Amino acid sequence: MNKVRSSNPRLESLVPYDPKYIPADVMISANENPQSVPQPVLDAVIARIQGLKFNRYPDPLANELRDAIAQAEGLARENVLMGNGGDELLFNLALAWGGPGRKMLNVPPTFSVYKNNAQLTGTEVVDVPRKEDYTLDEEAILDRLSQGDIDFAIITSPNNPTGDVASRDFLLKVLDASDALIMVDEAYCEFSKETIASLVNEHKNLLVLRTFSKAYSLAGVRMGYILACPEVITEFVKVRQPYSVDAVSQAIALEVMRNKDLFQLRIDQIIAQRAVLAGALAALEGVSVYPSRANYLLVKLDSKIDAGAVWQQLLDRGYLVRDFSRSAGLENCLRITVGLENENAGLVQALDQILKG
Ligand SMILES: *Cc1c(COP(=O)(O)O)cnc(C)c1O
Repeated sequence: MNKVRSSNPRLESLVPYDPKYIPADVMISANENPQSVPQPVLDAVIARIQGLKFNRYPDPLANELRDAIAQAEGLARENVLMGNGGDELLFNLALAWGGPGRKMLNVPPTFSVYKNNAQLTGTEVVDVPRKEDYTLDEEAILDRLSQGDIDFAIITSPNNPTGDVASRDFLLKVLDASDALIMVDEAYCEFSKETIASLVNEHKNLLVLRTFSKAYSLAGVRMGYILACPEVITEFVKVRQPYSVDAVSQAIALEVMRNKDLFQLRIDQIIAQRAVLAGALAALEGVSVYPSRANYLLVKLDSKIDAGAVWQQLLDRGYLVRDFSRSAGLENCLRITVGLENENAGLVQALDQILKG
């Protein structure tokens, strides 16, 4: 046969996620940690991997890792579930709580993966847009949830790409506004030092998402996890692929957990550099910087400047940032990941030169 019948009609309008990841000297587009894991962790990882039996299937639930995370969070193994990156768990959320006839509350502009997963699973998306300054429209979100028809909602804190956090008071109101499952995506919480995870047993509709990809330097490894009450975790276990978290990744994440302290100084350096970079960018003519509690800054360029062209000129000089200039609600915006001190200084200098023409 030289033809094939069409795929699921739901795919028709779906655009595959494109990270726009182009090799460059300075990679500051994907909110990765500018440094790989510390050498002592790498040494321990290699020793651990040498002891692995590659011919055997991994522990499907990665229980050793679940225990290490549970201990760090003051929770139990039954409150934790690992995934192949946070992205897999976001997909599992749409599978378990979405589907035809079900509704997800989304708060754009935010991480585009949420909406894609909803479309893929036939879930209706109910958007409650952020305000003009990208802060949450708290009243509108609470009002919408109180109608009682939302099955799950995702609130990202700090939000990607805008950088703002949802206040604890607001999240508590959200959790009480309905019985919808509320995912708080805390992919960047190590940089905001705020988390709501300790409440997962008190609030059965609370689900927290975390990842090793950002603060813990493991974007290349694919490891994320959720924290929730055991009843919610059980539903995720039903939809997950049994062996999605491989033995090598489990070994690596376990050594990172055992050596978490070695990452703390680096995280604090990124937080300090975030303030330096924000100040330097805000001092440039035609650049507005949004306040950020994460490891990136969203900047909006003056409407007289073509942000897409600036993005290309930065790339020509070796700096890959994220271009959001054609994304809904983010017109003329770029997102810049906080890098090492010299990378940040170089970026500011390059942008200054480009803007001065
Ligand atoms: C990076 C990110 C994740 C998870 O990324 P993984 O690499 O799949 O773990 C989840 N949510 C947001 C908002 C992110 O930016």
